[in-house]
Amino acid sequence: MNFVKDSVNQEPIVDTVFVIVDAAKKAKEKFGEDAVVDATIGSLYDEEGRLVALPSVFESLKNLDNRVLAKYAASFTGNPDFKDHVKKWVLQDHSSLYTDVIATPGGTGAVGMVVNECLDPGQTLIIPEIAWGSYALMAQMNNVDVARYHLFDGDRFDLDSFKKTCEEVMKKQDRLVIIINDPCHNPTGYSLSRKEWSDVIEFLNVCSQTHSVVLLNDIAYIDYSYRQEKAKEYFEVFDQISDNVVVVIAFSLSKSMTSYGLRCGAALLLAKKEEAIDQVKTVFEKDARATWSNINNGAMAMFVDVMDHRLEDYEKEKAYYVDLLKKRSDLFLKEANEVGLAHYPYKEGFFVTLSMDNDLRDRFHQALMDEHIYTVKVNQGIRVAICSLSLEKTKGLAKRMKEILNTI
Ligand code: PLP
Repeated sequence: MNFVKDSVNQEPIVDTVFVIVDAAKKAKEKFGEDAVVDATIGSLYDEEGRLVALPSVFESLKNLDNRVLAKYAASFTGNPDFKDHVKKWVLQDHSSLYTDVIATPGGTGAVGMVVNECLDPGQTLIIPEIAWGSYALMAQMNNVDVARYHLFDGDRFDLDSFKKTCEEVMKKQDRLVIIINDPCHNPTGYSLSRKEWSDVIEFLNVCSQTHSVVLLNDIAYIDYSYRQEKAKEYFEVFDQISDNVVVVIAFSLSKSMTSYGLRCGAALLLAKKEEAIDQVKTVFEKDARATWSNINNGAMAMFVDVMDHRLEDYEKEKAYYVDLLKKRSDLFLKEANEVGLAHYPYKEGFFVTLSMDNDLRDRFHQALMDEHIYTVKVNQGIRVAICSLSLEKTKGLAKRMKEILNTI
């Protein structure tokens, strides 16, 4: 008896994050806020433990005319002014490639569209070994396999593993579809240097002599880079792509605007030749119409209004939290390094990840919970969500964690 398609994997999602988030919540109710360290929540929280909702963003949204909120979007690919503003905000003036934009429901929509439409069932998607869990789920739902590249060689990007993974996949299929989540990689907080990006592009150009290449650059956390607008300069490296490479940048308003629930983002399509963009866009537009039809009009209008009329306030408000994130990560890393608590190379972003094998991880994760410290297990590590951890809770945490680690 099958009520769903035969080819789909029917195993329920094991949502490890929400189970632990819930356990942390219950512990806080039982033992009190002060007794619990909740480093599970992957959204930005302030020092008082409240979700950050930037005032410029939500004042803008609430000031929109009801009819703007009520309306359908102007097209299946998004409102023209939204698309223009996304292009300007994301790329600044760092690209001379042909570009088009498709509005999507968050970064998820942009990533999902690439997995749905750029690979056939049975082909392979290339993702990082330590990664946001949805990539593998999207592949599974499309009967696409995954190959994972090892992320680090010491404290640098593991270019050799990246190359070997691509070369293996090229033996089996006519194209490469690769995800690089950068800058502020989830969950390690790594960001590639400009040289590392140049090396990646140089290699993909070689691959493109025999295979079509789609490079999906997931930039969900880019607006929290400690380098701020300089973090967008690496897009210039994409100007070097060959004709047989298409870059899709997955942009999300969820983090950039602290508007996770509004479900708005975009896929920016970049290529040397207009024909390449046209092909991808034609198919993505149909995919959009067939799945979500069109995007939240109010969210798009809000983004345009913030960019046009509230940019200074928005940047000021966000800068405060970027600075706070830096203070939290500096404190955690300083203490972790002092006590020798091993972590993956962190540069910037919402999470720091402690490095260990999966067996030790499982035991450590439980031992931490026994001491009311809640974290999230990731492949080969323990994710510490400094984005939601106050400075007060961060202080002394690495030392406590190391002491607990020493007991197991
Ligand atoms: N990419 C990464 C790495 C993420 O961590 C997330 C959200 O957690 C997303 C993309 C997509 O988020 P959204 O669909 O809310 O834009």
